[in-house]
Amino acid sequence: MQKNNLYYKSTRGDKKKVLSAEAIIKGIADDGGLFVPETIHRADNDVYKLKSTDYKELAFLIMREFLTDYRQDELKDCINKAYNNKFDTEIIAPLNKKMGVYFLELYHGPTLAFKDMALSLLPHLLKKAAQKLNLNQEIVILTATSGDTGKAALQGFANVEGTKIIVFFPYQGVSKIQERQMLTQEGANTYVIGLKGNFDDAQREVKEIFEDSAFNEKIEEKNHIFSSANSINIGRLIPQIVYYFYAYLNMLGEGEIKIGEKINIAVPTGNFGDILAAYYAKEMGLPVNKLICASNENKVLADFFETGVYDKRRELIMTISPSMDILVSSNLERLLWLISEKDTQQIKELMNSLKEKGCYRIDSEMKEKLKNFYGGFAPQEESRQCIKEVFEKSKYLIDPHTAVAYAAYKKYIKETGDKTKTVIVSTASPFKFTKSVMVSIDSRYTKFNDFELIEKMSDLTQIPIPSGIRDIEKKPIRHKIVCEKGEMRTKITKILE
Ligand SMILES: *Cc1c(COP(=O)(O)O)cnc(C)c1O
Repeated sequence: MQKNNLYYKSTRGDKKKVLSAEAIIKGIADDGGLFVPETIHRADNDVYKLKSTDYKELAFLIMREFLTDYRQDELKDCINKAYNNKFDTEIIAPLNKKMGVYFLELYHGPTLAFKDMALSLLPHLLKKAAQKLNLNQEIVILTATSGDTGKAALQGFANVEGTKIIVFFPYQGVSKIQERQMLTQEGANTYVIGLKGNFDDAQREVKEIFEDSAFNEKIEEKNHIFSSANSINIGRLIPQIVYYFYAYLNMLGEGEIKIGEKINIAVPTGNFGDILAAYYAKEMGLPVNKLICASNENKVLADFFETGVYDKRRELIMTISPSMDILVSSNLERLLWLISEKDTQQIKELMNSLKEKGCYRIDSEMKEKLKNFYGGFAPQEESRQCIKEVFEKSKYLIDPHTAVAYAAYKKYIKETGDKTKTVIVSTASPFKFTKSVMVSIDSRYTKFNDFELIEKMSDLTQIPIPSGIRDIEKKPIRHKIVCEKGEMRTKITKILE
């Protein structure tokens, strides 16, 4: 059945409508807003008849609702190339019942974080999009990373013909293993640069570059165009909707829930991409009760859900969950667009206020519509305690990001007594954060470094060392560039010369 085309528009009112291929290539709308689908279709009822073993079929059924300008065979081809033996398990996203909750392990891809779920697919979607639009320029993927997107994007785009990828990460602001994963990246088209600033600095400057028409014209003269691998790109979000349905199917298959029964989903949150994908799943009809939005000490979002005021005017704190060390959660803009009844003028004002004053307040009608969300946060000590508790009680290791979600979930249960079955989104493998994890369970590991602890973690858990980090310490460092804030354009120009 041929469906009508779905169009994408800017959250900030730019009148231009585009199909998904163009939205994916552009990454961000011309007016600085984010592309959003005009409508979110309900998922086909057939989805609920699928077996939990069929990730690819499910991915096809969900994504075709959004990527209406991709032919069936094109979309299937992209999916087959993404979810293959690069993942260390055939079922792609295992669900693990421990401690009375369901940990959805999204870290079985090549770089050990959930970013692989979308970034294994995005290069293929992007390549097809370029063909559809008859582009002959080289696509330059500009990426700001808080630690995990960088490596996953590098892995996805390395040696992809017709592309270059440039990653900016917060210099000395990521875990040792995250850093080493990026700095040892192979591929002649890959560039990794340490920015002397934090993730917000990197993301702000990258967004400014996308909006800088003079700079874009300059690089277009050299036959390049920019695109984004960050979750501001709608091509990142759409593949992430799939695994929420997948978790649900799994629970149905195991007899844990009945069809139509609601579940809670707890998501360790930074840029608000992953949890927004869960909200999209809910809008597609997935039975969801609460979305638990979990933050670490950088709890702008927890405050926002409580008060309706988004206020980034505070110091960014470096934590043991670095991929969530973010004060400006870009994808919240897409949620605001939805809950304001698509009032683009208002979104523009809120985003201006954030840029100029560092804060904004939403009105009471919008606030009312946030009641599907619970904003919780866990300071470092609490998440360490959770890692220890889960390990001692069930011999199951979770990473510091997942621990934040588990801690927020526990607070939610304490406050509400809610008995709804809950999925905890496990966003990274504990092997990516060996030091923080091992020291949380036993202080005698303090004297070892991250790399030494890889093997010790493997011994302790009887889980083989994931291939993505095996021998990582011995691999040659290929990227050594460091830059100051405000210097990104210069570095990019140099690379593209
Ligand atoms: C990126 C990341 C997050 C945050 O996800 P968002 O989509 O940015 O909210 C959480 N945990 C890990 C391990 C991550 O890499």
